[in-house]
Amino acid sequence: MPELPEVEITRRGLLPDLPGRKIDAVVVRHTMLRYPLPPALDRLLAGHILRGIDRRGKYLLFRLDPGTLIVHLGMSGSLRLVPAAEPPGKHDHLDLIFGASILRLRDPRRFGAVIWVKGQVNAHPLIAPLGIEPLSNVFSGGWLHDATRGRAKAIKLFLMDSHAIVGVGNIYASESLFRAGVDPRTPAGKLSRKRCDRIVSAVKATLGAALAAGGSTLRDFIHSDGSSGWFQMQHLVYGRGGEPCRLCGAKVRLLQLGQRSTFFCPRCQR
Ligand SMILES: [Zn+2]
Repeated sequence: MPELPEVEITRRGLLPDLPGRKIDAVVVRHTMLRYPLPPALDRLLAGHILRGIDRRGKYLLFRLDPGTLIVHLGMSGSLRLVPAAEPPGKHDHLDLIFGASILRLRDPRRFGAVIWVKGQVNAHPLIAPLGIEPLSNVFSGGWLHDATRGRAKAIKLFLMDSHAIVGVGNIYASESLFRAGVDPRTPAGKLSRKRCDRIVSAVKATLGAALAAGGSTLRDFIHSDGSSGWFQMQHLVYGRGGEPCRLCGAKVRLLQLGQRSTFFCPRCQR
C-alpha cells in the first residue's frame, strides 16, 4: 500500500513536470473507485492551469484556479507520467492530458479516490480532521509530550491515530519505536519529555530513510510502466517476528496491539 513516503515521492516526482501546465482534456475509463468519480470531470478541469501539487497526509492536492482535485492512491494506486501515445492498460482508470504527456492513474484494487472540491479544500470532511504532518516542524518532542498528557493509549496506537498525526502507518510506527528504544505498549501519557524527543526524531528518521530510498528510484518509477511497484524498505523489526534483533540478537516479538501486528525487541525497547 502506498504510504506517506511514497505519496510524497510521487508529488516530488511530478513537481518538475506539471505545475504551470494546462490540462487539455480528461479521460475517465472507470467511474467507480472508493467513491464515484465526479461527473463531467473533463468539463471541470479541461482548459485550466495546474497551479501546484500539495499533500495532506496521504492525499495529493492538485490545485487549479476553480478548486482542488484530491487524489488518494488507496491500496494499490499509482500515478505516472506517460507519453500521450501510450495505450492504457486494464487498470488505468483516469488520464489527465497535458499536451504530449498524460498523468495516468492506475489502481487495480480500486480503493483509491478522486474528488473535486470547489473553493477551500481544508474544510473538506476528508481533510479537515487530519492531524499534524510528521515531516513538519510542528511535530516536535514538545508537541508530542503536550498532546499525550493524560492519555492511557499505547504510544504505537497514538502515533498511528490520523487525527493526531497523519501518515504514520503500522510499519513506520513499529520501525520508529524500535529506533527510539521505546516499548510500543507504553501508555503515551507516561512518556518523559526526553523519550518524546527520541520518538519524534525516530519517526522523522524512519520516514526520511524511506524518502531517501525512494528518491533514487523516483524518476524511474514516475516515468516507467510502474511494473516494478513501490520500493521495498529493509525493515529493522517489522515482519521479523522470531528472527534475531539486528542490534542485540534477542528474538523479535510479535503481538497484537489494537488488532494490528506489532513487532518489537523486548531487550532494546523498554
Ligand atoms: Zn534488540
